[in-house]
Amino acid sequence: MTEELLFKKIKHAVGRAVADHGLIAAGDRIAVAVSGGKDSYTLLHILESLRQRAPIRFEIMALTIDSGYPGFRTDIIGGHLKEHGFEHHIEKTDHYGIIKAKRREGSSYCSICARLKRGALYELAQRFGCNKLALGHHLDDFAETLLLNQFFVGSLKSMAASMLADNGVTTVIRPLVYVSEAQIIEFARLKSFPVVCCRCPACGEADMQRKRMKRLISELERDIPHIRQSILRALANVQPRHLLDKRLSVPPAAPVDGALGEPA
Ligand code: SF4
Repeated sequence: MTEELLFKKIKHAVGRAVADHGLIAAGDRIAVAVSGGKDSYTLLHILESLRQRAPIRFEIMALTIDSGYPGFRTDIIGGHLKEHGFEHHIEKTDHYGIIKAKRREGSSYCSICARLKRGALYELAQRFGCNKLALGHHLDDFAETLLLNQFFVGSLKSMAASMLADNGVTTVIRPLVYVSEAQIIEFARLKSFPVVCCRCPACGEADMQRKRMKRLISELERDIPHIRQSILRALANVQPRHLLDKRLSVPPAAPVDGALGEPA
């Protein structure tokens, strides 16, 4: 696929997500979290392209958190953002020092690191007058998160395309919800984005269980080509009457003949 066609496809998918979930409104100022990875560069460039042709006015800026891992090349990220004319800010933090002090031996870096990073992003979004924070989670992240929560947490949940953050002020949006990771990998390659690793001890290593979900979905994909899209459709097609959560109980209705998926 050519770069132009792929760009159009991704832009169309993001436009659909924006429309389906009301992700962007007139007057929004959106902070885009740019980590230096393929997902966040893609998100930023696609949102900017939409912004330029949108019938409504909204602003975007890029925010990067430098967690303090030695060797993290924020200069490369900053250079790219400057070259493309993005308003941006890189926040230097000592998250690495905090993690080293607080992390228990053998426990994951990611849980503390991600929490610190998210908190810093909320704080920065407010500081820079942004009412929304855009994150680069894509279709595969949604599908994998759903499976992870079912298999390891015992909960039927994934992520929201739009939700008010815990700070009660910032709305988190995920405009890449309809874009697959394969499309992003190809797009980042064609655009030669200067992808940098944050140099954390877990850099480039998706968490073990997430890797297993990724593998599982890829294996199933051989027999079920549209498995990711189907999982995503399921997330938008919840049937509370066919679940067991009493909090979602609705009055009993007349039985439906031949309900799919029920054992004989
Ligand atoms: S992969 Fe690295 S930067 Fe990302 S959350 Fe984990 S420790 Fe933090």
